[in-house]
Amino acid sequence: MKAFAYVNPTTEQAAVEALRNGGIVRPLAGGQDLLARMKDYIDQPDRIVNVKNALDTTISSTPDGDLRIGAAVKIIDLVEHAQTSTLYPAVTMAARDVGSPQIRHQGTVGGNLNQRPRCWYFRQEEFLCFKKGGNRCFAVDGENQYHSIFGNSGPSKIVHPSSLAVPFVAYQARFRVVSASGEREIPASQYFTLPTMETVQQENVLAADELLTHVILPAPGNLKSGHYEVRFKESRDWPMAFATVLLTTTGTTISAARVVLGAVAPIPWRSDTAERALVGKSLTAQTAVAAGEAAVRDARPLEKNGYKVQITKTAVERAILQAAGIQTA
Ligand SMILES: Cc1cc2nc3c(=O)[nH]c(=O)nc-3n(C[C@H](O)[C@H](O)[C@H](O)COP(=O)(O)OP(=O)(O)OC[C@H]3O[C@@H](n4cnc5c(N)ncnc54)[C@H](O)[C@@H]3O)c2cc1C
Ligand code: SF4
Repeated sequence: MKAFAYVNPTTEQAAVEALRNGGIVRPLAGGQDLLARMKDYIDQPDRIVNVKNALDTTISSTPDGDLRIGAAVKIIDLVEHAQTSTLYPAVTMAARDVGSPQIRHQGTVGGNLNQRPRCWYFRQEEFLCFKKGGNRCFAVDGENQYHSIFGNSGPSKIVHPSSLAVPFVAYQARFRVVSASGEREIPASQYFTLPTMETVQQENVLAADELLTHVILPAPGNLKSGHYEVRFKESRDWPMAFATVLLTTTGTTISAARVVLGAVAPIPWRSDTAERALVGKSLTAQTAVAAGEAAVRDARPLEKNGYKVQITKTAVERAILQAAGIQTA
């Protein structure tokens, strides 16, 4: 491993100062992703900035009724936060299923949202693909069974690895970001980016000198929510496809819907086809089936991931049934 400098700031301001003028600088949170990348020689920072003592480790309500989650909050603390599970149950469901107990005790919200892709070509030093400054994507003709079925016409076929990103987009969260020159808030739906030739080396709009400091969840209103993940049996690994569904109902009729898919696209994928199949309909098992089918209508699977179309359909259908309080398998 290349020698690197280690900085341990205790304030947000000192942390963003330490991100500047140090060559390649990386924030370090729980370290599960960053340290693994360094050990695999796919990231060689000159300086590491530990952000765990500098960023907020609390979850608190604001006078406006928002919930403010610090980027240094551990995933386990999010799982166990009572107000989150009451108001934003899909966030709790997603957090509860991240990896194993050890991973949830070590991993942070900020690290989870900014973790890099799991594409096995990206994770191996010898495959110099677009994402690492090379000139091809090995997944196109290679082992693409875990890659994207939506949003995959660009240079990289990754799926976004963050489970938390999906319910955060569904609940219309905002991400607070700081740099030495100020702060900004970015809607979660605009934080993650589809790869183009210009942007393929990163997965979001965060600049190198910026830190994600908070996730801000607006008051949810009266929503019915469902979150369903399809995984290998008993697996602690990332899900293969999943969906968060948020519904507003008037009587038994669905008046508004947000359906966001995970592990199927380079970003959390909002399914407007599924949403259109829900709005104006009765919240029934039949509607759930129709919305699942609508969700995958525009899927474009690669050679080896056609199975994801079926499991995505199932994830959407079961998340809707869960929101409706109808028993699923
Ligand atoms: C076996 C296994 C299974 C897993 N399963 C899942 C799963 O099902 N779902 C899921 O979502 N995740 C899963 N994970 C990932 C896990 O959730 C980790 O939390 C995540 O990879 C990184 O969190 P961390 O705090 O350790 O981040 P780190 O490794 O410290 O950081 C990750 C990246 O984010 C950057 N970063 C960290 N904090 C900030 C910040 N505040 N602002 C800007 N950049 C920042 C770092 O520079 C680094 O590039 C799994 C991991 C393992 C090992
Ligand atoms: S999918 Fe993306 S990360 Fe994987 S090989 Fe292609 S360009 Fe690289």
